[in-house]
This record gives sequence, C-alpha cells and structure tokens, in this order.
Amino acid sequence: MYKALLIEKDGAAGYRAAIKALDDDNLPEGDVTVRVDYSTLNYKDGLAITGKAPVVRKFPLVAGIDFAGSVEHSSHKDWKAGDKVVLNGWGVGESHSVGLAQRARVKGDWLVALPGGLSTRQAMAIGTAGYTAMLCVMALQKHGLQPGDGDILVTGANGGVGGVAIAVLSKLGYRVVASTGRAEQADALKRLGAAEIIARDELSAPGKPLGKERWAGVVDAVGSHTLANACAGTRYRGAVAACGLAQGMDFPASVAPFILRGITLYGIDSVMAPPALRREAWSRLAADLDTAKLDGMVREIPLSAAVAAAADILAGKVRGRLVVNVNA
Ligand code: NDP
Repeated sequence: MYKALLIEKDGAAGYRAAIKALDDDNLPEGDVTVRVDYSTLNYKDGLAITGKAPVVRKFPLVAGIDFAGSVEHSSHKDWKAGDKVVLNGWGVGESHSVGLAQRARVKGDWLVALPGGLSTRQAMAIGTAGYTAMLCVMALQKHGLQPGDGDILVTGANGGVGGVAIAVLSKLGYRVVASTGRAEQADALKRLGAAEIIARDELSAPGKPLGKERWAGVVDAVGSHTLANACAGTRYRGAVAACGLAQGMDFPASVAPFILRGITLYGIDSVMAPPALRREAWSRLAADLDTAKLDGMVREIPLSAAVAAAADILAGKVRGRLVVNVNA
C-alpha cells in the first residue's frame, strides 16, 4: 500500500481531494517504478486539487505534476534500481495518476537523472516552477541577451518561478528588477538577488501599446495586462519569456512592440518540453542556482497538509516553494 493525494469526481459527492491508501494495482502503466521522496505544490497543482480549473482529465487521479525519488524497478534500458530521478510534466497529475504519492510508475523516457550535487529534496524545492524558470532564462540567453544589455524584469517575484528566475539571473550577473504585489517581501527578494523592486500595480492595469524602453528581457509568470505592459516596455530587439497566467490567461496587447521595436515573445512550456532541453535545464539548475538561496525560499509540508495548502497557493498566500514530504 502507498499513500497518495487522490482527486475524485462523481455526481453524488462532487469534486473532492483527500489522502488515500492505495494498493499497487492502482499504479498506472509504465516501465519504471519509483519510490518517491518528495513532490511539490505548484500553482497548477493548486488548480487541480481545488478543481478551480479543468487540469485533471480523468478521475480518479493522483494529483501532483512532479516528483523526485529513486528507481525501484525498471525494464527501461536507461534506468536501474537505485538511480535518482526527477520528473516534470508529461501529463503527470493531469492524466497519468502519480505525483503526490509515495510510489509512482511512469515511462522511463519521461525521467531525468538528478544532476550531480542535487538531492531529491533540492530537486523538488526547485520543482516544475524552478525548472520552468530555467527554461525562461535559457530562452533569453539563446536570444543573445548578455548581462550588460540592461535590466531583466521578473514578474510574480514571490512565486516559485519568479524566485528561482531572480536567483539564477542574478548569479549569472544580470541586473534583476522584481515586480511584486507583496512589498513587505522586498528584503527577501533582495536577498535572492533582485537589485530593484517595483509594485505589481505599475504593470497590472491596462496600458499603452508602447512605453518607455525599460527592459532588455523579461521573465513573465503573470500574463494578462502585466505581460502586455512588459512587452510595451521592452527595449529594441529585446525578448520576453512568457510562462504563466497568475493574473490571467488573456493577452490584451498590440503588435506595436513587435513591429516597431522588433521584440521577440518566447512561449515557455514545461510539460511537453523535449528530453534534451529538460536535461540541459536540470544540469544548468545544478550549476547556476545557489542552493543556499533556494533553502531560504522553501517550506516543507507533509502530504497530509497538501490539500489545505492548495487553496493557499491560489490565494497568493504562499511565498517561494512548497516541498511535500510524501513520507512524513
Ligand atoms: P506561484 O503561485 O508560486 O507564484 C505566482 C506569483 O504571481 C505570486 O507569488 C504572486 O507574486 C503573483 N501573482 C499572484 N496573483 C497575481 C495577480 N492576480 N496579478 C499579478 N500577479 C499575481 O506560482 P508559480 O511561480 O509556481 O507559477 C507561476 C505561473 O507560471 C502560474 O500561472 C503557473 O501556472 C505557470 N507555470 C507555467 C508552466 C509552464 O510550463 N508554462 C510551468 C510552471 C508554472 P507576488 O506576490 O510577488 O506579486
């Protein structure tokens, strides 16, 4: 038997999430079985567990879009018992029933070997949010942005994506401007590496098609007017990496920044990102993220606390990353 956070939905009892004991017959198909050490709570898990958005595509389903642990059994050529692995996305926690659970069975092709130096706890302190932040940073770097090119705006700064983006960018030498709705967290954001803090309100209201050229690059976890204003304030031939929708899924922008300033908007998807890009992102995280800074933005909770914490993450009450110890 193993413990799991199970989401169920049926006519009589409606949508519900609770910790259940499951037997191994409940493990889905796959060629690798993993003993999970840690999972996390990401924004998307909050949506899935509360049912606020249609993330879950079949019921009953074990929630959780990521995990880290050790291989128990494998019939896949790349993995053997004892290997330390991390998994993000691929439909896990949406249609594949593993994640926030003590055991998982998945396709070996979905797994990434934990890069040297990272523990399973640190991997989940980074989680899908941090791995997505790294995909954003890599997109800006592949665009050609150098630290001397100017400020990088990071929105949703107190969130998981924002926090890891700030820590990585500042370690790489970029000057980071952090946008937040929680001014009281300014000191914590500066400790992470932000050089300047601006209020969320500066960017979240409807704005003009073009604004002052402020940003060489942007990591946006927020979407909606914030993303539109970030594009409008991006310098000539700058780049914006858009990964999130904490403000909204809409994009009320004009083409002006694209056709008059030649800016580039990169869409960042972590779920179906190709294996080589994932491996690159995880090895970059092991190299370019100061794990001491990471420790300062992590709170560990037991699996039993995950349902309540899911509502908190949607209410914007969580700072940084929530690591779930599935064995506590
Ligand atoms: P968090 O909940 O940890 O952080 C989101 C942050 O956004 C909050 O901390 C807050 O920062 C800010 N925020 C919250 N509500 C609003 C609002 N109404 N208007 C403006 N800002 C707001 O989430 P994550 O960092 O884990 O994820 C961020 C986004 O990225 C989510 O939308 C998530 O779904 C998406 N995502 C996408 C992925 C992909 O593959 N594309 C993968 C992972 C995440 P502050 O208090 O500092 O203002």
